Amino acid sequence: MIFHVMTLFPEMIEGTMNCSIMGRALEKNLISLDAVQIRDYTLDRHNKVDDYPYGGGAGMLMQAQPVYDCHKAIQEKISIDGRKKARVVYMSPWGRTFDQKLAEEFAKEDDLIFLCGHYEGIDQRVLDEIVTDYVSLGDFVLSGGELPACVMIDCISRLIPGVLSNDDSAVTESFSFGLLEYPQYSRPEEWNGIKVPPVLLSGHHENVEKWRHEMSLEITKKYRPDMYEKYMEEHPVVTKKTRRKK
Ligand code: SAH
Repeated sequence: MIFHVMTLFPEMIEGTMNCSIMGRALEKNLISLDAVQIRDYTLDRHNKVDDYPYGGGAGMLMQAQPVYDCHKAIQEKISIDGRKKARVVYMSPWGRTFDQKLAEEFAKEDDLIFLCGHYEGIDQRVLDEIVTDYVSLGDFVLSGGELPACVMIDCISRLIPGVLSNDDSAVTESFSFGLLEYPQYSRPEEWNGIKVPPVLLSGHHENVEKWRHEMSLEITKKYRPDMYEKYMEEHPVVTKKTRRKK
């Protein structure tokens, strides 16, 4: 999978993605990252890419031309390589909030283009022309789309086979089953006078699984009652009482 990122600050993307799990995935070519400098496409003599917004107001706006030409060059490169036109994701507070479900949908693509705004954003005309998806990180305003793009690339990459050392990791994690993950413990068995829950040392796989599921329910109920309610609606528990009612 190739992530193409259109940005005025490619070093923000490269610097962030070159470490740890993502860094190894890039090294092994499980994913590729193509951080493209929008400024390289400006036709302005002074390399300018922004200007004042019409109608006044604070800040500067990224202009349409460099963004449009940069996007065109990326799509052309993709088509020369024989792949289908890529979706263009604009990082924007207007967008649908990013979540695990959207990450799973994006993970099926061969290419994705992320467009990062900066300053006050981007001239609407070019957005109308090229963007297929508006996606937000949440109800707050950041100074640029670079951090959200890195967050999304990290999340999507974890779903690509081989990126996590154990493929099961991504399947059992929070949100994949509509529940949060259970608590986990590592060595030593006793730390600061506190022992690891005995069931985890029992070697009894079935009991461990049962305990983990119960803890997932408990943790979700405590921290995300909204998620818990939805899960319970979708997975009604058959108790002796409800069984008798039938
Ligand atoms: N004037 C805009 C905010 C511009 S912030 C407004 O009020 O809606 C500059 C850039 O940061 C945006 O173009 C966008 O790419 C990015 N950005 C800011 N907040 C974001 C968020 N919550 N999610 C995703 N991208 C965001």
